[in-house]
Formats: sequence, structure tokens, C-alpha cells
Amino acid sequence: MTAGILKGGNEMEAKKMLVAFAACAALCAAATPALEKVVFVGGHPDDFAAQIGLALLMRGTFEVHVVDFTHGERGCGKEKFESGWTKAKRTKEEESVCAAVGAKLHWLDEVDGDAYACRETCAKFAEILKELQPRAIITHWPLDQHLDHVMAFTATMKAIHLAKIEPEIYLDILLRSLKFLRFSDIIPIIKSSLCKFHNRKLQKIIKTEHNTLKFSIFEI
Ligand SMILES: [Zn+2]
Repeated sequence: MTAGILKGGNEMEAKKMLVAFAACAALCAAATPALEKVVFVGGHPDDFAAQIGLALLMRGTFEVHVVDFTHGERGCGKEKFESGWTKAKRTKEEESVCAAVGAKLHWLDEVDGDAYACRETCAKFAEILKELQPRAIITHWPLDQHLDHVMAFTATMKAIHLAKIEPEIYLDILLRSLKFLRFSDIIPIIKSSLCKFHNRKLQKIIKTEHNTLKFSIFEI
């Protein structure tokens, strides 16, 4: 098209038009501010699916990223785990889910049921976070019987440290985690004291100049 304009018409005018078009495109790009990023970190592919409503609410306001710790490859039994069938299926499913809600997907490639917050994985995760510079990270509440969730939380904390970033951190309490919180109900006085202590500690964390990490419980 460019060659046709240059050949058939006034070459100088065509060049001016192209320069004006490029300038206009650059201005339009500059006028659209980049969205802040939010990262969902899950132990398995279906952990993000459990928070899909929140991700949908964020569309247009935040750029949503999903970091999956494992491929959920043990979810359909031993045989399908060993043949690689489950890994392939759940990987494809998660890719489809993320594409449907406009989220960008990252894998840490740990193994379902055998995941660790090892040095290499935390370093790989840190590189992702360094690149993204997220406003907030949402991950698992660490008191959980599923160790993949605990490890995902642990790797998140280590990766934040390695990446030298200070995002807001939100912890998603799964129903299975709530039973651990019942410990506080045994003696109400202890519960009350713990809450007061926790609040004072939280205020201190928020006020500390060199540590702006904010720990909050995210309620859906
Ligand atoms: Zn999970």
C-alpha cells in the first residue's frame, strides 16, 4: 500500500501522511496508561477457577496474571498421572480459562502432590514478579492441609523477597483452612487477646517505613 501511494501520488504528501499517522499512533498509545497488575498464585489449575468471579471483576481495571505452581497432574488417578494424560488435559483447560477471562498464564512446573518451594522454583517465580512488578498478589492462606498450597504461599513469600518488590498481599482462605481457626474459639479470652495483638502488629507493619507489606485477609 505504501509503495502504491509513493508511486502513484505526490511522494512528499504521502510521506507527511505517514509521519502524521505514526505520530498519532504514538500519541494514542501514550494516552492509554498501562494497567496495574494483579497476580493470582495457585497450587493447582482449579485454584484460579475458584476465584474467577474476582478476576472477572478486575477486567479493565487490572491486568490479571495467573501463576500456577503445578499442573494438577495427580487429579485423575495414578494411571493418568503416569501417562501424562492429566497434565496435558489440565494444562489445556487452564490455558482456555485464562484466555476466556483475559488473564496471562505462567507455570512454575512443580509436580502436583510433590511440590516444593525449592531454590530454583523460587528464583524462576522471582523473575516473573520482577518483570511484572505487580500491585497485588493473591495466594493461599498458609494454614492448609494441602502442602502444595502451603508451598505455593511459601514460594510466593520467597519470590517477593528475591524480586525486591513490595506488593499488597491478600490471602484467600479456603473452607478447608477454616477448621484450623477454630483453635481460637476454645478459650474466647485467648481469641480476643490474639486479635488485639494481631491488630497492633498489623498497624506496626503498615507504619514501618522500610516494610510496607500489607497482610490482609481477602474476602470474596
Ligand atoms: Zn489447589
